Amino acid sequence: MHAPMEAPARPRHAREGHAPDPAAVALAFASVPLSGTAAECAQGCVEAVRALTGGPARLEVPTRPVPLSVGDAPAGLVRVAGFTAPGGEGALHCAPSVEGWPRASLDALVDHVTRVWTLQEQRASQSSELDQLRFHLTALQQVARTLAVVRGAEETERLVLDSVGEVFFAWWAALYHTDGEQYTCRAVRSLRGESVAYAIPARVVRAIAAPGQPPVIPPEDAEIRDHVPAEVAVVAPLDFGEGGAGLLILGKRMTDAPYESHDLALLRALADSSAVALRNAELLDRLRAQATIDPLTGCHNRRGFDEILQMEVARAKRYNRPLSLVLLDIDHFKRINDDFGHEVGDHALQRIGRAVRHTFRNTDSACRYGGEEFALIFPETPKDEGAKLAERLRILVESLPPNPEVPRALTASFGVACFPDDAETIPDLIRAADRALYQAKSNGRNRCETA
Ligand code: GH3
Ligand code: MG
Ligand code: MG
Repeated sequence: MHAPMEAPARPRHAREGHAPDPAAVALAFASVPLSGTAAECAQGCVEAVRALTGGPARLEVPTRPVPLSVGDAPAGLVRVAGFTAPGGEGALHCAPSVEGWPRASLDALVDHVTRVWTLQEQRASQSSELDQLRFHLTALQQVARTLAVVRGAEETERLVLDSVGEVFFAWWAALYHTDGEQYTCRAVRSLRGESVAYAIPARVVRAIAAPGQPPVIPPEDAEIRDHVPAEVAVVAPLDFGEGGAGLLILGKRMTDAPYESHDLALLRALADSSAVALRNAELLDRLRAQATIDPLTGCHNRRGFDEILQMEVARAKRYNRPLSLVLLDIDHFKRINDDFGHEVGDHALQRIGRAVRHTFRNTDSACRYGGEEFALIFPETPKDEGAKLAERLRILVESLPPNPEVPRALTASFGVACFPDDAETIPDLIRAADRALYQAKSNGRNRCETA
């Protein structure tokens, strides 16, 4: 017959009220699961101490967000050891008899508990460092993906501010460009409506940071704080290359956490890739503009005209507003070329181009439609207004005095058509203006006719 099952036998020293020797302490702590969670470690420690003392044990660790307390009720226990642990100082409580242990045994107990929790603390700080690195890496990947597609400057500025603002939970972020004398605000993202400076003198920026330098937290007495109404937390210089420079300024964080050195390192990486993206965006905008601007006259070219007319007619349709289209054709232009040469003809085109570009509101668009024909798009303009504007331009053209570059007075004929009065589609609108122009030519030139 087998003996009935018994609880595992207690070690001899516990059974007999003897203190364990240091080797026995080491053996008991060998079963603490060092690679487990803080709660598993705490449980292991409590069990080891119970086994060694044969009495109650309790372990407290101020882990965050929830502090750990494992083991027996605190009543009647004494604190035998304090140790560094994740979140602050932990404590081991045992029955008072432990205090009667020989020094070497007690030291071994304290030593082993401390060792377990030193290790736990190292693991906790390594794991938070890893979390941080993982977060940085994700942020960098996300921003790199966003900025890898070359977009126009306005969109890129918005994306840069959105991604950097989100990575750091900043209340606001602002982008500045400099012409060397001052930094001018290009874009702001502000969650609470903070207002930032429109312009900051370059010397104020130079006092705290230079292009190519890492981001800085300006000192409390830095002059930049007087210039920017919102509370400045970090200033990151942007280097656009070829002498171009800018700034990325961030406000405080929603979490109220300070910007630490690893945040500044991440911000530097983000600022560098943002600078590249912003520079590419600027180049793209310039190329786009070149593709739609006529180099001789500075007016929009035919492609620009098509794009603008399409956009403006769509808007006019949507908001139920009128739009006037005016076609201008220089009178007897062939004679200018024949009498004075093509160079003079080009100067004449430039002269008319300047006149049409500078005469109207900046919502109006001046385009070179063909050889010596121009087209003017007047949004929000009914037909009688359009005719008045054309007449004003006719008088301007005929009163341009001859000069050495263009030695003859010029005149032009005009055709005016209006959306939606004369046409409901773009091709019909152009045809209507063209017919009116033809009418002006056949009625004797240097005149305006409406469709
Ligand atoms: P109308 O009053 O009937 O418009 O007479 P016009 O001579 O202006 O008309 P036409 O269409 O017969 O001639 C236009 C001329 O414009 C022909 C072409 O040589 C000239 N032209 C077109 N583009 C340019 C340019 O870029 N530079 C120069 N110098 N001339 C150009
Ligand atoms: Mg012509
Ligand atoms: Mg002509």
